[in-house]
Amino acid sequence: MTIPNSVQLEDVPCPLCNDRNDKIILRGHDLLYGLPGEFTIVQCLDCGLMRTNPRPTMETMGFYYPDDYGPYISTIITDQNKRHKSGGVLDTLKKIIKPIYRKIVQFNTTCLPTMAPGRMLEPGCASGSFLHQMAQKGWDVYGIEYSEKAASAARQAGYNVHIGPLETAPDYHEPFDLIVGWMVLEHLQNPIRSLRKLRAWAWSDTWLVLSVPNAGSIEFSMFKHNWYALHLPAHLYHFTPETITKVLAQGGWRVERIFHQRSLSNLVASFGYVLQDWGFNNLGRKLSDFPEKAGRYSHLGLYPFAWLLSQFGQTGRMTVWARKTQ
Ligand SMILES: [Zn+2]
Repeated sequence: MTIPNSVQLEDVPCPLCNDRNDKIILRGHDLLYGLPGEFTIVQCLDCGLMRTNPRPTMETMGFYYPDDYGPYISTIITDQNKRHKSGGVLDTLKKIIKPIYRKIVQFNTTCLPTMAPGRMLEPGCASGSFLHQMAQKGWDVYGIEYSEKAASAARQAGYNVHIGPLETAPDYHEPFDLIVGWMVLEHLQNPIRSLRKLRAWAWSDTWLVLSVPNAGSIEFSMFKHNWYALHLPAHLYHFTPETITKVLAQGGWRVERIFHQRSLSNLVASFGYVLQDWGFNNLGRKLSDFPEKAGRYSHLGLYPFAWLLSQFGQTGRMTVWARKTQ
């Protein structure tokens, strides 16, 4: 599968060391959509940061973000109330399970410090469901989104969203109290430059909350090119707790806490890719669709195992809380 002519590649140095002292870790391709092209992940021998290199240029990367890209669809704002149906025992059970489930999901995807509502910025807000969720809690919300289609959906719901990469976002005159980026940093061309830009929009006590895949986990070492969270070539960086701490530090942020998410979605989906390699296509595909299609009860069922792995920092996703360095 060769890379189409419309995609231009560029060779970039390690953003931490500005150097190309690398070793090759693995080669892989886009497993999510089956788009053509083989990509290489290298690791900087000086600092340990892994990156996809060479990589599509910012101008031609759009080829690997189809309009039906998962996060654009899953973040479309819906009226949750409309989906609620009532009915007997099942309804009572749901009423008990829902708050527990919400706590679990919140831990996994949107684990935030306790704070009063203020101004929030979400780079990579996709179609805006998190902006909507926070606005309903009283936050004054702003978004930045690279995909025109996704950003337009959020704008149509009434939110202030800059369309384009973070690098081209206008200067916000008043700082934010909270800046969140859910599975975003690994997509950015130059995470350090972006983090410095975010720093300029923060107070001294602003929280920066980011979630990223954890390439330092057992999932990555087990599944390698079949690891679901590789998302080649859209993921340009593959962080570990150590390397994200270094990247944040160089971008002007100090890590305060790292949470290992209690989710095995990546693990199940990666196993699905392995099964497809072995020729079990139907079952394999079902498992690799797990992160996007699994219902809440499957997540609840896996929770005890996920909790156990998270205690050892071995689940495939982590959430980082950081504050500005002085
Ligand atoms: Zn380096």
